[in-house]
Amino acid sequence: MTTIENTDFFSMDRRTFLKVVGAIGASAFLGVHHTDITKALEISKTKIIWIHGAECTGCSESLLDAGNPDIVQAIQKLNVDVVYHETLLAQQGIFVDGKPAGTSELNSEILLDEAIEEGDYILVVEGAVANGPNGTGKYCMYGERTFKEIFKKAASNATFIMAVGMCATYGGINAADSEIVDMTDFRGVAFQRVDPSKGMLTELGIEKPVINIAGCPAHPDWILLTLAAVILGKIQLNDLDSILDKYKRPLVFFPEDITLHENCPRRGYYDKGIFDTEFSGDACLWKLGCKGPYTHSDCALRRWNGSVNMCTQAGSPCISCCEPGFFDNGAPFYQEAEDKAIFSGLNMDNAAKIGIGAAAVGVAAHAARRILFDNNNEKEEEK
Ligand code: SF4
Ligand code: SF4
Repeated sequence: MTTIENTDFFSMDRRTFLKVVGAIGASAFLGVHHTDITKALEISKTKIIWIHGAECTGCSESLLDAGNPDIVQAIQKLNVDVVYHETLLAQQGIFVDGKPAGTSELNSEILLDEAIEEGDYILVVEGAVANGPNGTGKYCMYGERTFKEIFKKAASNATFIMAVGMCATYGGINAADSEIVDMTDFRGVAFQRVDPSKGMLTELGIEKPVINIAGCPAHPDWILLTLAAVILGKIQLNDLDSILDKYKRPLVFFPEDITLHENCPRRGYYDKGIFDTEFSGDACLWKLGCKGPYTHSDCALRRWNGSVNMCTQAGSPCISCCEPGFFDNGAPFYQEAEDKAIFSGLNMDNAAKIGIGAAAVGVAAHAARRILFDNNNEKEEEK
């Protein structure tokens, strides 16, 4: 513990940080940084405005389910003032004499406008921003205003923007392939799927520092630790490129050089070529469509629900919910990736030859090892 207390997590190299913070989680991090936090408490409160676009509120739900620290403890420890969060507000829909109430105490629209006007806040965006039809944004309305209009106003005055969850980061399910996707035109804050030139900020001509917390939903630790790091000055907003990947995800949680597969609790079975072909087994889930070998997240180290469990440990194949382009990139779910030739229509052998990226090549290498393993097994059986 003495060693941890003397450690500056955000000056560690990624691998060490990942191991240490992955092991201790948000609770110990906030505890260890007690001195920094106390100093921060002496400074003014950090204001957060949290707005919701097109989404299911799953990321707020995920954050509210954070157990250790819970959201109230985290807010207190970090001296945060959540001035606006639609799901948690009491003001929504209060009418006086048949009209919406006219004060910020009773009317959330007025509260939001006043908070934006005051400025000096972190903007958290949960949910995609509708641009359709025809750039009007009318496919997502809040009362008489489009979410696009609210986002524009809130983003313009923010100190920094944290996009939380796949809808806010890359469009998520709203931007998935469909016959109406062009018409609806949902955008992430700084990306549309994997395209940064179509992010809503670019569309609106706004330049702001952005951190993307991927995931469907986002892990509460990823949200809280990132907010803590920004508030405590452990992340410099003028030097985000050094700590983010090209999709603006913090490298410590979404490492470029490590996939979930490498730390998966079922990895031993993969290496031995033992695969489940039906659900509820104990072996590797690759043949049931696991996309862990493509997925750059620390889920297998950090785990979920108070570090108790995670998808593959619980018997559910990883659907790659943290990768830009989700969910088309993860689909078809529960079908072996190799057989379905997903990812640009390439099978694993071609992926290795053409080199579509380190993760895919890594998978191809594993696939090759498995084929060798299978061949060796067949030879053993023939003896
Ligand atoms: S393929 Fe999936 S279940 Fe199998 S070891 Fe890799 S991450 Fe775990
Ligand atoms: S294990 Fe895969 S599907 Fe599950 S939360 Fe992590 S990235 Fe998402």
